[in-house]
Amino acid sequence: MFLSRLIYYSHPEHIGTEELERISVVSQANNYLDGITGVLFYNGGWFVQVLEGSRTRVSQRYAKIAADVRHRDVTLIEFKAVTERMFSEWDMRYIGADPSHERIVRRFMPEGFDPTVIYEGDVITRLLRCLLDSEPREG
Ligand code: FAD
Repeated sequence: MFLSRLIYYSHPEHIGTEELERISVVSQANNYLDGITGVLFYNGGWFVQVLEGSRTRVSQRYAKIAADVRHRDVTLIEFKAVTERMFSEWDMRYIGADPSHERIVRRFMPEGFDPTVIYEGDVITRLLRCLLDSEPREG
């Protein structure tokens, strides 16, 4: 298997909390079956998603996601071969808007979150990893 990581951004289109919940449930089930892991991040009117898994599965799933009318202007940032997953804990982890994220976001993007100015996907993966690592541990 060729392990790969794909990162894209888009604008949500008429998505409320219930629709997001539906997307989360469907995504977790599909991604689990496909061996895909990743994160969907919402901030400042943008979605950014990271998908990791076999090159074939990730390509196929991205094609479906990109055609979904619940978001628009879907733009690929990066699709590359990797040696390990960065988000192996989650079939699809959703990180919603939260004012407490801003301090970390601005460490990576001082002007505020704007995926259109990102050239390398590495900025996104490090930002998401930082946000996830900053969450209080359960138990
Ligand atoms: P179907 O459910 O039969 O979908 C058929 C078509 O209808 C597809 O084009 C689908 O996009 C669209 N559709 C389905 N439900 C609705 C609805 N309620 N309103 C409008 N259109 C609808 N899926 C994953 O499996 N993994 C992911 O990680 C993932 N991430 C996503 C991230 C975002 C930002 C969005 C918007 C969607 C995401 N999805 C994800 C959902 C994905 O786009 C597909 O709906 C899903 O993969 C099922 O597609 P399907 O064609 O197999 O099934």
